[in-house]
Amino acid sequence: MILILDNGHGNPPLTGGKCSPDKRIREYDWARDMVRRIAEKAKEAGIETHILVPEKTDIKLNERTRRVNQICDEKGASNCVLISVHINAAGADGKWHNARGWTGWVAPKSSQNSKTLARLLYIEATRANLKGNRADSPSCYWVGNFAIVRDTKCPAVLTENLFMDNEEDAAFLESEDGKEIIANLHIEAIKNYIVHLNK
Ligand SMILES: [Zn+2]
Repeated sequence: MILILDNGHGNPPLTGGKCSPDKRIREYDWARDMVRRIAEKAKEAGIETHILVPEKTDIKLNERTRRVNQICDEKGASNCVLISVHINAAGADGKWHNARGWTGWVAPKSSQNSKTLARLLYIEATRANLKGNRADSPSCYWVGNFAIVRDTKCPAVLTENLFMDNEEDAAFLESEDGKEIIANLHIEAIKNYIVHLNK
């Protein structure tokens, strides 16, 4: 299995993502670091890993989906899985907000395997106590029309790792412990996903 990791946004201005109200957390920066951590742990676990955007510059969404699909065509879509790593924000108004917690997203017509991976991620996030104050998802995933999960051929999940404009979440996102907990929840879910595939 080939794990494809998308670090979402690049250096602004194209799709720079958002930042915390105090500007200490920038989404593109944080996601880059997180993808690097997940990739390291995946390699240690013997999982073939591909970082989708090695560049520091911004890479447009359609180029990112093209890259994913090229790997799928070469290796077989059923042998690949994509996780796109993000941080959520409740507003873009430079203020702190109340919403906090972890969510995992699949496309509207996503495959069963996408939903399974999203569910396994949700279980690990809940175990890590990252549910926050978001409403429970009975299905253990959320559905969103995001191009990176919608237009790619392999099973795909987009993770929104807490809220950068919530003060408690932001402190967790900045901490070394917090980063390790979030990287580990991805890895544990991926390992469980591989076990599921091999059943
Ligand atoms: Zn984002």
